[in-house]
Amino acid sequence: MKFYSLNNQNIQASFKDAVIAGIAPDKGLYFPESITPLPTDFFEHIEELSNQEIAFQAIHQFVSEDIPDEALKEIIANTLDFDFPVVDIEENVATLELFHGPTMAFKDVGARFMANCLGYFSQGEKQDVTVLVATSGDTGGAVANGFLGVDGVKVVILYPSGKVSEIQEKQLTTLGQNIEAMEVDGVFDDCQRMVKTAFLDTEITNHKKLTSANSINVARWLPQLFYFLFAYKQAKSKGKEIVFSVPSGNFGNICAGMVAQKLGMPVKHFVASTNVNDVVPKFMTNGVYEPMPSIATISNAMDVGDPSNFVRIRHLYQDDLEKLQESLSSHSFTDEKTKAIMKEVHSRTGYVMDPHGAVGYLGLKEHQKSHPDTYGIFLETAHPVKFLDVVEETLDVSPKIPPQIIKVMDKDKKSHAITTYEELKQHLLNN
Ligand SMILES: *Cc1c(COP(=O)(O)O)cnc(C)c1O
Repeated sequence: MKFYSLNNQNIQASFKDAVIAGIAPDKGLYFPESITPLPTDFFEHIEELSNQEIAFQAIHQFVSEDIPDEALKEIIANTLDFDFPVVDIEENVATLELFHGPTMAFKDVGARFMANCLGYFSQGEKQDVTVLVATSGDTGGAVANGFLGVDGVKVVILYPSGKVSEIQEKQLTTLGQNIEAMEVDGVFDDCQRMVKTAFLDTEITNHKKLTSANSINVARWLPQLFYFLFAYKQAKSKGKEIVFSVPSGNFGNICAGMVAQKLGMPVKHFVASTNVNDVVPKFMTNGVYEPMPSIATISNAMDVGDPSNFVRIRHLYQDDLEKLQESLSSHSFTDEKTKAIMKEVHSRTGYVMDPHGAVGYLGLKEHQKSHPDTYGIFLETAHPVKFLDVVEETLDVSPKIPPQIIKVMDKDKKSHAITTYEELKQHLLNN
């Protein structure tokens, strides 16, 4: 299987080369040259398969030329050793809890899969790969944890000093080994700019293999299709048409779900739920894609003004808006509405939603107004303790801190404080 650049389909790479490069030489996103549906038998008997068997069959066609079956099984086993429960909230509404992994964010799956692939590809290579990543919060923790102890791979994470939560900072800065945290005196955009500059700096790239670990990378993006299949397996017996609502920022997660649909998963409709960063909801109504500077919200992992993976979704539907509208609708919600629904659902059902999941709930309910006889599943993308301030203030409850979080809170922070790009560059050249 080759992956082509969405800017020019003549530019192609193997899975291995696409993972190591991250982005195509013409700056296009890589996309699989074909998506062959799985046999109908797979979906008819999916409840008889383990999650690892499901994942293996689903990803096999995309990676099999570069990863032999036994190695793939091991990568999957290392990626998926926690639960993905579908929890009923009310009649016809359930949530797929994606926060039972080591950093309690759904990004654990993509980050671990990518880390294990890179680890596999770097076996026997003389030169280490350096993963350079800027984070505003959750990505960094999942990437750091996923890559911890992977041979042949070093990770350098840039985060804005004082702008991530205490839990998130501890998840980035306490691991040690092959993980280094750079604490940047600035905001997230400064971190991102430094990373982009480093990728273009030949004085660095002549000496070092640099790659990124955001959802542009096919090894982080594609495995996210697994948990849509795990949810389908659990919800199938309801005998109703299933709808997924996905709280979306860069649209990698929902796009992976739509790949699962192309693989034959019998789910007709997806809802992309956003906060007030509403570039996609607007596009879905008027066909005009107009990026804008991002607006800060309480669901800050979705504060994205130019979602990088949306081109992949458009491509899946050959850029045909009417066809896309049959499979996808998109709705945007304010912080006020998000807090109000967190309160309402908590007092009515006892369930504590984090602000991202709450946006997903709102989008689902909007869709179900006109499609009442569906079984709706919204994705809970982070554990409520990851957004403790908002949850405590809105619900007046203190969620119990889970053991994976308590463990890091007791450890000591280690970071390199930097202010300028030059300091990052020297660090990369000298280490
Ligand atoms: C990253 C993230 C999202 C957005 O996912 P995309 O794939 O970028 O659309 C939603 N919720 C949480 C908690 C996240 O960390």
